[in-house]
Amino acid sequence: MHRRKFIQNMALLSLMSPFIKLNASTNKKIVVVGAGIIGASIAYELSNLGIKTILIDKYKAGSGTSGSSFNWINATYPKKPYSYNYIAQLGLKAFKDIQNDLNYDIQWNGSLEWANSKESQKELIDEVNKLMRYQTFTKHKIINHNKANILESNLNFRDNINIVHSEDDGVIDTNEFIKLLIDRINFNGSQVIEECEYKNIKYTNNTISSIITSKGEIAANQIVFACGIDTNKIFNKKLLKSPEPGIIIKSKPHKKIINKIIYGPGIHLYQQKDGRVIIGEQGLLERNDINKFSDYPSQFDSKLMENKYVNKIISIGKTFFNEIESLDINEVKIGWRPIPLDEKPIIGRLNYDKNIYIATMHSGITLGPIVGKLVAKELTQNKELSILDGFRPGRFL
Ligand SMILES: Cc1cc2nc3c(=O)[nH]c(=O)nc-3n(C[C@H](O)[C@H](O)[C@H](O)COP(=O)(O)OP(=O)(O)OC[C@H]3O[C@@H](n4cnc5c(N)ncnc54)[C@H](O)[C@@H]3O)c2cc1C
Repeated sequence: MHRRKFIQNMALLSLMSPFIKLNASTNKKIVVVGAGIIGASIAYELSNLGIKTILIDKYKAGSGTSGSSFNWINATYPKKPYSYNYIAQLGLKAFKDIQNDLNYDIQWNGSLEWANSKESQKELIDEVNKLMRYQTFTKHKIINHNKANILESNLNFRDNINIVHSEDDGVIDTNEFIKLLIDRINFNGSQVIEECEYKNIKYTNNTISSIITSKGEIAANQIVFACGIDTNKIFNKKLLKSPEPGIIIKSKPHKKIINKIIYGPGIHLYQQKDGRVIIGEQGLLERNDINKFSDYPSQFDSKLMENKYVNKIISIGKTFFNEIESLDINEVKIGWRPIPLDEKPIIGRLNYDKNIYIATMHSGITLGPIVGKLVAKELTQNKELSILDGFRPGRFL
């Protein structure tokens, strides 16, 4: 059957189905709560394995942290310990597999990183040296400003002789990527329901039988919570620190001016395939401004405050990238990082109910596809993979 026709038929079928019956005919009824990159990757892998999965989100898919991320795929410092770095290395490989499967063109353009102050520069090189003592690591080279200028002629590296070139890094457009995952989930006969908020679990004879949502009841015998910064609220327990905000600026498409991911002093940036320049900052938001936010907004509610930070970012950027002033700023967002208390991913079943699974982490863009694969394997084969041993929720719950 033609692919588009198939998708239309699936959409029609699901419209006709009474809600409760959506999942009712299969043995495994898995509902994934949260359609950011983590939940969408898990549902994608499950649906590829032929498991009819329902992925729900209280808002639109990709509208949480994933939609306000810097989108850098990397396995660099300071991902510690080795088990965390290693899973990120596998993350890069998983992206290479998935890019073929989804026919998605990832920019594997590598990154350049350096600092201004002597102390920060020393810290950076120490971190790289630690990384290089791991059993395996992604490719890194230390290059000087002359070599760096061959790679990036529009940047001013001054006389820095210790610029870290991480050759394997890449970037995606996460919203575009999630959209492709969702198209495939639907194509595989699974279902994505937006604006559907998880409220509670219903048990029958002490076993999960469904979840209660804002749109009604959905049959389920296993639930995966991939709820990012909402994880504490869902479990009514502190598993994550207070979310840390970051500003992301996007320009309108611009002529090609940057080749790599640039992690410079104070700000970081790269250029998307369509010419948009994406800029992030490093800890610029002031605590008294953060305290004024309520409920983790994705945008500034005051133009005055927004301009204050855009101007700061531009003036920091000008110290090494003059062209930043010529960019036409199109969008300014605030993203909120889901950071577990010990900063390591939380992935696995709960000890008190093996049918409830959590997947929450920072660096979730890098880790999305590999976490999707590993979680789908654990859920379908009833396994506990040793590679995830250090990340189990049992350390908190
Ligand atoms: C500024 C910034 C820059 C970053 N840069 C990078 C980077 O370069 N590389 C990298 O690897 N990582 C980066 N990260 C981290 C990365 O973006 C996150 O780790 C990742 O997006 C988390 O994805 P997620 O799917 O877990 O969460 P989310 O994308 O937040 O998805 C969770 C979803 O759950 C939904 N949800 C919550 N509660 C409910 C409920 N009750 N019912 C239904 N749905 C619910 C939400 O609506 C949301 O859509 C960055 C983060 C920020 C903020």
